[in-house]
Amino acid sequence: PRYLADEARYESMTYRRTGRSGIDLPALSLGLWHNFGDTTPFATQRDVARRAFDLGITHFDLANNYGPPYGSAEENFGRILAKDLHPYRDEIVISTKAGYDMLPGPYGDHGSRKYLLGSLDASLDRMGLDHVDIFYHHRPDPSTPLEETMGALAAAVHAGKAQYVGVSNYSAARTREAAALLDDLGAPLLIHQPSYSMFNRHVEQATVVDPYDGQQAEPLLDVVEDLGVGAIVFSPLQQGLLTGRYLAGAAPAGSRAARPDSPFLSASNLSETYLERARALDAVAQGRGQTLAQLAVSWVLRDPRVTSALVGASSVAQLEDTVGALAAAPLTAEEIAAIEPYAVD
Ligand code: NDP
Repeated sequence: PRYLADEARYESMTYRRTGRSGIDLPALSLGLWHNFGDTTPFATQRDVARRAFDLGITHFDLANNYGPPYGSAEENFGRILAKDLHPYRDEIVISTKAGYDMLPGPYGDHGSRKYLLGSLDASLDRMGLDHVDIFYHHRPDPSTPLEETMGALAAAVHAGKAQYVGVSNYSAARTREAAALLDDLGAPLLIHQPSYSMFNRHVEQATVVDPYDGQQAEPLLDVVEDLGVGAIVFSPLQQGLLTGRYLAGAAPAGSRAARPDSPFLSASNLSETYLERARALDAVAQGRGQTLAQLAVSWVLRDPRVTSALVGASSVAQLEDTVGALAAAPLTAEEIAAIEPYAVD
């Protein structure tokens, strides 16, 4: 039977304005880095994506190399669009990126105009779209002039293939420079996508040296606020470490830490220090009647400069649990203080 979106889908989600732009994003966005490759049953992917939209999640975040294999998350999302979500295309923000390794040879990595614009065309083909809403440079490339990379992003906008542009994993100083270039090119920087969680607080910090200019770095969240750029923070659940998944001290079968195809998280992350902190945070969550995943989301969203928390989910039950965070009261000053000793990098 044809998918019909839940008529109540806009009733419980909250939306936040992206910096000083005109566009709102849902406080929770769904990322397709994991769980949308060919190694995940298509039926599960479809269930998660449909449930997300039914819950008011209007933003889906992809990249050229999400899978595995590379490209398959975009292909699978294209199938979900074709089967279910296409009638709602104008209610949905679709993002993709280029900047990490995608193709063999010299034109499938980093920040050249050739790579970025070729990759965007390939992403549009895989998803069956004529434009994406946000096109990102996925990571900084010190070997390419920033003028060339930003010129490619602006060209995507002027060609009608992207409505907005973003940068990801850029330092504070490089973000300032990128925003200035994009302003001149008539395609203002909409959004920055950094990592942020209770266990990863670099965006709040003034690190010693900014790799872009060798000067003392400003905190990234201060910079995006000053520039009027939004912030969508990835891995707010620290890939599952800030959920109930590992609190027993082991990686359950099928979890990201147990999967051989997820090299960025493994059972070696489950140290005694980790368990101590995660269990203490879980106690704070329980005191609020929340799960740890919900507390982790409430915590990143306590800062109004964070436009959206970008989460992954391997099941509908996980997604529903995480979205439950939005029904909770904001964190009090006392709760934030109780979290502080355990919210350590
Ligand atoms: P999260 O920190 O949200 O981790 C998601 C994982 O946590 C899930 O796959 C699942 O793992 C587990 N999980 C999620 N919800 C729950 C729950 N309620 N209870 C228990 N376990 C739960 O983020 P990701 O690391 O997945 O990243 C999110 C998105 O951010 C990506 O999809 C991508 O779009 C973006 N991203 C961007 C990067 C960049 O460089 N720009 C880099 C990394 C991510 P399990 O599989 O074990 O069930």
